[in-house]
Amino acid sequence: MIFVENLNKKFGPNHVLKGVDCHIREREVVCVIGPSGSGKSTFLRCMNGLESITSGSIVINKHRLDDSKTNINLVRQEAGMVFQHFNLFPHLKVIDNVMLAPLKVAKVNRDEARAKAEMLLAKVGLAEKMEAFPGSLSGGQMQRVAIARALAMDPKIMLFDEPTSALDPEIVGEVLTVMKDLANEGMTMVVVTHEMGFAREVADRVLFMDQGLIVEEGSPDEIFSSPRNARTQGFLSKVL
Ligand code: ADP
Ligand code: MG
Repeated sequence: MIFVENLNKKFGPNHVLKGVDCHIREREVVCVIGPSGSGKSTFLRCMNGLESITSGSIVINKHRLDDSKTNINLVRQEAGMVFQHFNLFPHLKVIDNVMLAPLKVAKVNRDEARAKAEMLLAKVGLAEKMEAFPGSLSGGQMQRVAIARALAMDPKIMLFDEPTSALDPEIVGEVLTVMKDLANEGMTMVVVTHEMGFAREVADRVLFMDQGLIVEEGSPDEIFSSPRNARTQGFLSKVL
């Protein structure tokens, strides 16, 4: 589903991704961990075309991102993204936030978009907040709306960039539960996270990134119980 080969990304002189290789299968859940500044967000942003690629290649569900003929909007439709800060439109009701892209980008008719949005909001446990404005919601509720909004475009892949890092500890769980449900339904997911409990329980594979490279990867058990790389060991000793 995702093929990343020798991905390099520079911001001016700053060489942020230094030859990342990564293949992700359909229905696989991959968690990406690593210290701040190691390039995790840049890696995710490259995967749905939010950042241009300096060199190397990325193929998302058969779409080559380094090919100028690729329709980037189609790629973004197939790879939904959820950010640390939810980026909801504050002047739109919850239901209108979820309906916006289907109406404007996918040109779905209004009734269909509304039915889908209602179904997705029920799925993330927010049926009763449909008519509310984002400002009246808790952070956990806003993040669940953001997930519903991403799902409204029927993505084949969901990319999560630290979706719970901005949340109070007591509401992290409600967002992780929604993500766990998605994983169980077979969504292909790449999740940058500091939630090691989630990674251990839900990930099929864990990637440890440091200084622009995937330094080590393995099953959650391999990475958390017997990391081989000294940098992985050092990182985990600080966060576990
Ligand atoms: P992480 O998500 O692992 O904390 P990032 O991918 O956000 O790491 O950042 C990796 C490096 O890339 C950092 O040195 C950061 O300053 C730099 N960087 C990220 N985004 C940009 C940008 N838009 N412009 C310039 N430098 C950036
Ligand atoms: Mg980041």
